[in-house]
Amino acid sequence: MGLNVVMLGAPGAGKGTQAERFARRRGLPKISTGDILRQGVQDRMPVALLAKATMDRGELVDDETMVAIVRERLVRPDTDLGFVLDGFPRTVSQARALDAIIEERGKGSLLIVDIVVPDEDLVRRLAMRRICSKCGKNAEPGDNAETTCQRCGGALVHRADDSEEVVLERLRVYANATRPLVEFYSERPTFRTLNGAQPPDRVAQELDATINEATVPEASAASEAQRAVGR
Ligand code: AMP
Repeated sequence: MGLNVVMLGAPGAGKGTQAERFARRRGLPKISTGDILRQGVQDRMPVALLAKATMDRGELVDDETMVAIVRERLVRPDTDLGFVLDGFPRTVSQARALDAIIEERGKGSLLIVDIVVPDEDLVRRLAMRRICSKCGKNAEPGDNAETTCQRCGGALVHRADDSEEVVLERLRVYANATRPLVEFYSERPTFRTLNGAQPPDRVAQELDATINEATVPEASAASEAQRAVGR
């Protein structure tokens, strides 16, 4: 069964960085709806250009558009063994749509990890955050002295929606629309929380351990079933 991970967390909680590192370690695609939209704007895709003004204000793009983007992405074969979703779902309605997509796929259930960071840390982190103007990836935390991307050499810039005013709007949107998701998922046996107010390496270690622990019953159930078949 696939390892289908959803990373939850406020803007600036580090979910993008952690999703990227985790996906690379496990050889899974990281699917970031924010990256898809930003790339779409660069490529002048109509859907993304329509969404741009909403993104620039720090508001949420409509559910229908976002669900269509994710539905289309999750049918690609590179997701067969699983994926790491970053920035989706962001509303309860998107989460319900994702459940339906996962059910249709029949390639394993969701594992949800919520990275929790106090609000005052989020504002500070977002003010410092930079992304690469060429490949769109987040600069590694701690790269404050660097001016170019370590991966592709592109210039590191602030994200347009990381200005103080837009950051406050994004945190408001998160509290109103996205935090209810935590309640939506919290009763599931595959829901976990992580303390994101720690050094990134430590968070990465805990993420690995959490996912290993959360997938053990499934793994042992699968090997038990295989043994039964082999008997
Ligand atoms: P992110 O990089 O995840 O912070 O996303 C940047 C912006 O893209 C957000 O502020 C929204 O405007 C838009 N966006 C990304 N993912 C979603 C989503 N799942 N639902 C609605 N809007 C989204």
